[in-house]
Amino acid sequence: MKKIPSQGISKDELFGMMETYRAQDLPWRDGRTWAYVYDAGEEVEAVIKKAYMNFLSENALDPTAFPSLLHFENEIISMCAAHLGGDENTVGNFTSGGTESIICAVKAARDWARAHRPDVTEPEIVLPDTAHAAFHKAAHYLDVKLVLVRADAETFQADPEAMRAAITDQTILLVGSAISYAHGVVDPIEELGLIALEKNVLFHVDACMGGFLLPYFKKLGGDIPHFDLSVPGVTSISMDLHKYGFAAKGASVVMYREKELRKYQIFACSQWTGYTIVNPTVQSSKSGGPLAAAWAILHFLGEDGYMKLAKTMFDATQKVCEGIERMEGLELLAKPHMNLIAFTTTDEVDIFQVADEMKDRGWYIQPQLGYNHSRQNIHLSINPKSAQWVDDLLRDLKISVDAARAIPQGELATMIESMFADFDPSQFSDEVFGQMLQMVGIGGASDIPERMADINNALNALPAALREKLLTEYLNQLFQYQEPTA
Ligand SMILES: *Cc1c(COP(=O)(O)O)cnc(C)c1O
Repeated sequence: MKKIPSQGISKDELFGMMETYRAQDLPWRDGRTWAYVYDAGEEVEAVIKKAYMNFLSENALDPTAFPSLLHFENEIISMCAAHLGGDENTVGNFTSGGTESIICAVKAARDWARAHRPDVTEPEIVLPDTAHAAFHKAAHYLDVKLVLVRADAETFQADPEAMRAAITDQTILLVGSAISYAHGVVDPIEELGLIALEKNVLFHVDACMGGFLLPYFKKLGGDIPHFDLSVPGVTSISMDLHKYGFAAKGASVVMYREKELRKYQIFACSQWTGYTIVNPTVQSSKSGGPLAAAWAILHFLGEDGYMKLAKTMFDATQKVCEGIERMEGLELLAKPHMNLIAFTTTDEVDIFQVADEMKDRGWYIQPQLGYNHSRQNIHLSINPKSAQWVDDLLRDLKISVDAARAIPQGELATMIESMFADFDPSQFSDEVFGQMLQMVGIGGASDIPERMADINNALNALPAALREKLLTEYLNQLFQYQEPTA
């Protein structure tokens, strides 16, 4: 086992050690990593780091102890409300990320329904299958039932009529996205809002990804459907600042049309011997760093700074989309409203091999597994820093498609598909899952293979419930200390 060193290590030595651990990390600063990191350049990075460090140790647990933090939070919420069509009645809170914002919104809806709709005994949320997995997590944590509705097979937007048909007397909440992560499209929020009003249910818009940038894309001439708090029927909305707000990670907001609903998000406990807890969000003790960094970057960049960044991404997105549409053998899965793109191959070329070929050429782009109407594909998030690389990306993409075409199709996926077509995960023991991990090539947690195509194809061939079981098993292995081998 690793133990706490018996004697402290010098600063030089320990920071040196930490830098060496980075060797295998994605080299995101070069702008060739098109996922995970939202990079607006060195100056922005310096500003968020300084603000973060300045408030790192302050604790937002008690808003009366550190009024500076309360001030930041209320101002951030007001700026975000103004950005997303809210008014003086709009309230909200700062959270650690989209997932926490969504958990808060689902909790508020559940507890609102407990108070106002005693007829509801098994609360349900109706959402499109394109909605973020965070809703599944929230429903799982909060014991709310999910009713998944397939999105339109062409546009990948939510299908309002199918959503309406899925509403029952137990439905408490509808969900729409602006934009959806996978396909980058805005759902028909106005139509969904009308349905929510008609059926008298709450309606959350997940604008975690799109909320910040869409208003700028609209000003730049983007054809963006209405999606914000100004749309009738929308009762809550979430927006991440740590995506295209370029704040430090740990920054999102969840907002409500009015206080009456937000009240149900707050948790209070005085039934113990310590300090009375009153928490608006999931975290209790929390660093003031992310909050201060988010406040700082909104002020540092301002509307004109964000507009410039948006323009860079807007133009780059158009070029990338046109390039992909022109390229033989590739197609966009949907016409994106923002700067997130999903594309796939039109013929027998293995899209996961394309991703590996791109990786060999120094790009990191994200493979997405197929689900329902959505075929397996590659996902790109376009950053300001990626704009300079668009031509190179398209060139290498063409080379990668040709290279992938020459690679013979693996048989593993076909074999797995036929083996597990009608599969009940509950019948399998942990040992079997361990063996399956070996089979798909991720048996040893420490030896992550260079090429992922076989693994991705194997996962893609499995039913979703089995993918979940298998990857749970994988993570359960991955998060365990291992003695260094060398
Ligand atoms: C990123 C994202 C989330 C989840 O946000 P985290 O910050 O990763 O927790 C939710 N919804 C959408 C649409 C997203 O893109």
